[in-house]
Amino acid sequence: MSRALTLGFAAFALSGCVVAVGNQSAAPVALATVSGVPAGMQYLYGSGEAAAASRQAYAGLVRYVNQYLRDRTTLRRMPLSAVLAANATLAQPAQWPCTGKPAVVFDVDETVLLNTGYEYSDARGGLGYDAARWERWERSDGRATRAVPGAVEGLAALRAAGVTVVFNTNRNAATAEFTEGVLNRAGLGPAKHGETLFLKGDAPGGSGKDARRALIASRYCVVALVGDQLGDFSDLFNTGLKPVERRAAADSPAIAPLWGNGWFVLPNPVYGTALAGDFDDVFPNDLRWTDPGARKE
Ligand SMILES: [Mg+2]
Repeated sequence: MSRALTLGFAAFALSGCVVAVGNQSAAPVALATVSGVPAGMQYLYGSGEAAAASRQAYAGLVRYVNQYLRDRTTLRRMPLSAVLAANATLAQPAQWPCTGKPAVVFDVDETVLLNTGYEYSDARGGLGYDAARWERWERSDGRATRAVPGAVEGLAALRAAGVTVVFNTNRNAATAEFTEGVLNRAGLGPAKHGETLFLKGDAPGGSGKDARRALIASRYCVVALVGDQLGDFSDLFNTGLKPVERRAAADSPAIAPLWGNGWFVLPNPVYGTALAGDFDDVFPNDLRWTDPGARKE
């Protein structure tokens, strides 16, 4: 798994040192907790708000894809693929021509599948990332996972419309049969390795997903990309950008129009590339307020 960096909030009561799913950082990071549960986990696995946000993303995805298919039929318009071209930059995000059968490409973890059981073990044990432990989780039977709210219905609606559902995940090729099984068990399948399931090791680039995306785009017209990390859309976001640069890129005039229009993002405050940045990154100088009524010490 290529996840990076969990977040510490020094201002809150800290209990436990947890680094969540697939974090490749060796050092555990103290997480903000409420009632002993890391706040991000409360939000993602326990809140109605996260369920609503996920449903919202899936509803927007299905609406977008249906509109795309209608346009293709009625207007004979062939929009560009959601996959960026090899020569794309964040300033000029050129897109592949869209050819072949329509498909939507999904990340797996915290995009279609919630790893609630694994995160429980992290939270309970105060554990940092351990590749061997994560692999044991990949090989588990999936009983402690749930589909992301809206995913089962959304994927079924896409398939009913003639769209192929393809998974592109950084779970390992060596555990492919288990990942197939977990997805099928959760009602998200069919997932077949090499056909509709692409894993780390299936193409060059390690945890980078661009090579696998290019492979998928050579077989399908990729109508949409769905993920919880910016790397689920382009590896260009993971080229050493500082948090403020990354945020600016995601919200830039070139990239911003893609959100909700081919690129669909799910919430994940538990782990991953979003959780980076110090006080200066998160609270720039011009966005600071000091309470004039605060007692002077
Ligand atoms: Mg993910």
